[in-house]
Amino acid sequence: MNKEKTKALRERALCVTPLGVNSNFRYWGEGTPYVKRAKGCRLWDVDGDEFIEYRMAFGPIILGHAFDEVDQKVISELKDGVLFAMTGELEIEVEEMMIDMIPGLESVRLACSGTEATMHAVRIARAFTGRELVLKFEGNYHGLNDHLLWSTYAPAEAYGNARSPISIPGSSGIPESMGNLVITLPFNDREAFERAMYVYGNSIAAVFTEPCQGNCGAMLPEPGFLDLVQSKCREYGALFILDEVKTGFRIHNGGARAYYKLKPDLMTYAKALGNGYPIAALGGRKDIMDIIGHGVVQGGTYTNNKPGVAGAWATLKLLKEKPVLKTIEKRGKKLMQGIDAILTEEDIVHCMNGYPSMFSFALGVEKTRNQRDWNHSDKDMYLEIVAEMYKRGIMPDNDAREPWFMCYSHEEKDIAETLEAFRDSVKAVKSK
Ligand code: PMP
Repeated sequence: MNKEKTKALRERALCVTPLGVNSNFRYWGEGTPYVKRAKGCRLWDVDGDEFIEYRMAFGPIILGHAFDEVDQKVISELKDGVLFAMTGELEIEVEEMMIDMIPGLESVRLACSGTEATMHAVRIARAFTGRELVLKFEGNYHGLNDHLLWSTYAPAEAYGNARSPISIPGSSGIPESMGNLVITLPFNDREAFERAMYVYGNSIAAVFTEPCQGNCGAMLPEPGFLDLVQSKCREYGALFILDEVKTGFRIHNGGARAYYKLKPDLMTYAKALGNGYPIAALGGRKDIMDIIGHGVVQGGTYTNNKPGVAGAWATLKLLKEKPVLKTIEKRGKKLMQGIDAILTEEDIVHCMNGYPSMFSFALGVEKTRNQRDWNHSDKDMYLEIVAEMYKRGIMPDNDAREPWFMCYSHEEKDIAETLEAFRDSVKAVKSK
């Protein structure tokens, strides 16, 4: 591949923005790609090379890139103005649709990003309970706010013993003192969780969790783990907050809440809610949400931005009316099964993780249940396979933690093409 335009654009970008990208997560070093356009499940980089892609903007694209029905709704709404210091009917309709689709969602507020939604959820939980501690799980990512950016990704040794884990800030610049307000634990470790609740439960405002480790190899919760989290939260009066930013409107129209029949007190959403338009939400129990406006602040200039609201309106309508998630599930299953079979045929020890609509696989390990195990997987081999796939026009993310995301526009032929490239890529890596 001739990457002259990519190189030139990277050089220009490096002059004007750190690392040449507007989010650290888009930086792949020397190989950082730059996009020209995308349609459906296909993406073209600035050099015109075409890819079937599985990054889906880190998850939001649930229908497909440049999905006509969504874009037409947004365009038609934009003609009447994009932002007001006033509430419009469309945003109320979006909230009504969400409440209709998600069991137990009684009241909801809109926001612009997942980071914002979880940040507000932390404040609401602290205000509601009058407590300050939050508990989260290692390898789970809840956005870039300082309250929750702890123990997102560190070498297993750094975390210390599971009986008394060391909380590690995810960035310089996060005040060390904020570490006194967060407890971090290995995911799926019932014993560690029960012990921590026994010791700190009465001081914990909220336990935050992603339903699966959606930012670390898509490892699923073990049967009963999320129920345990829920029941211990009830026992100690802590709020149970399910971060559905990746799973919401992706694994089920009612999110993981419906999928696992859970009753979290609050949930956070973003990503698939708007098929790429900037929209997020937080909501749950009405008695908790009703604290907003009574000494508790939530809001923002852009929380009712029309592109986001109209994008969500059209996306939710399609999710309700068409078999979007059923179709994705069927095709995703085929892709997962195909990858599993190829790795088995090629004698590569591995385990498959996640849901058909967002899945991953860890190499060199037979089972992973949390980030500590996952850190022992063969990430180098994973990235070598991914590099071979780029050469063959297939683009999963260049970070082994990030799941493969499916959308409604991935068709059977795309799956077949992907599997063929996957087989060739694995063979190429093995023959090195
Ligand atoms: N929560 C989860 C579970 C996420 O996956 C992410 C983003 N990957 C966030 C929160 C933060 O969302 P955003 O990038 O929109 O701020």
